[in-house]
Amino acid sequence: MNRNTIIKMRILLLALLSVLTAGISTSLAGDIKQTADEIAVAYAARVVGDNNRVRLVMDFDRRIKFKTMYLENPDRLVLDLEETIFGLDGSSDERIRGLVTDFRAGAIAPGRSRVVLLTSVPTRVEKYSIKPQQKDGRHRLTMDIIKTDRETYRDAIFLQTGALGESGNVAYKGDRIRRDRKGRAKQFTIVIDPGHGGIDGGAEGSGRTIEKSITLGFAVALKRVLEKTRNIRVLMTREHDVFVSLAERVSFARRNKADLMLSIHADSLRQRQIRGATIYTLSEVGSDEFSRTMAKNENRADIFAGLALPKEDTAVADILLDLARRETGVFSVQFASTLIDRLSGRISLIKNPHRAANFQVLRAPDIPSVLLELGYLSNADDVKQISSSEWQASTSEFVSQAIVAYQRTHEIRNAFLHLRAK
Ligand SMILES: [Zn+2]
Repeated sequence: MNRNTIIKMRILLLALLSVLTAGISTSLAGDIKQTADEIAVAYAARVVGDNNRVRLVMDFDRRIKFKTMYLENPDRLVLDLEETIFGLDGSSDERIRGLVTDFRAGAIAPGRSRVVLLTSVPTRVEKYSIKPQQKDGRHRLTMDIIKTDRETYRDAIFLQTGALGESGNVAYKGDRIRRDRKGRAKQFTIVIDPGHGGIDGGAEGSGRTIEKSITLGFAVALKRVLEKTRNIRVLMTREHDVFVSLAERVSFARRNKADLMLSIHADSLRQRQIRGATIYTLSEVGSDEFSRTMAKNENRADIFAGLALPKEDTAVADILLDLARRETGVFSVQFASTLIDRLSGRISLIKNPHRAANFQVLRAPDIPSVLLELGYLSNADDVKQISSSEWQASTSEFVSQAIVAYQRTHEIRNAFLHLRAK
């Protein structure tokens, strides 16, 4: 083997911690319900090879079962396995080369883990084996992955669809649907959506600050504040370190008949000097280049988790849907300006804090939806600030004031519509 193309990933067992380095990321399941004995451990993983073939080698504490799946746009090879803890010591700066351009491993749903290899061309698993190692009793998975042509690849995808479903059905679906009791006036419902989670860590800042933990921490703080106010039902798209697809976040809000959806993020920018909170609403076109790039990156979250891309939105031509979207858009903008009002002068905001872009998570046609970037993990001052619990506590207070203000206007409007209807 050519030494230059050897990628080593020394894997450590790190309790509930995830690391993202040099385009390689791993994350650990936070939603562990099994006892430690029941969870498999991956000690080591490496990819060795060139542009025609690579060998994936992973060491586990036991004989594991897995399924493979191929995905297109971009090309990915996915291994679905039982719940497994992965860790990466972060000291390795070797790059992924050859056929494999990105390697991720982590939780995908309760009790399930996943390894995703992003490949530069279509590939095929030539052969694999799992063998116990004499020296330490560990089980080594060796998988040879070779380059293949587009047609063969598509045939393989076509054949697997019947067996696994189009997206591999990995969206997290718990018993989270709460229905309104019959006969009661519908309570104002907000869905708080902590960005990223599980295998998808999101952005990374200094000191191993991971976006998925920041967003969850802030969402929990906000939920606590909101629950003190009466007449607001607060739901979250995730309450643990689990992966939830973008489509599932939107349909969660729709199933629960949310009146408002607030997605929380703390992304990273190439321009490290930029800092401050940003409030995004949906726009097909995008308000500026900066926002368009942001949405593009954000919409890639599912790709790195090994999900198939959603089907084209064929319903766009529907005129009723178009009207609904327009009305929803007006309310989204209304909430965005209320939010900016409450945050101005209290926390640092980016220049022109209201921006717009085509974020997939804001696309519910009937639910006003806003995405709040708390700040940017690429800026050292922002990292310090948004990871502090004092800042999170006071900021969640301001955000909740905006939600309450929005809820009031929402109720007045509903009462007015009700009167008119009589
Ligand atoms: Zn994000």
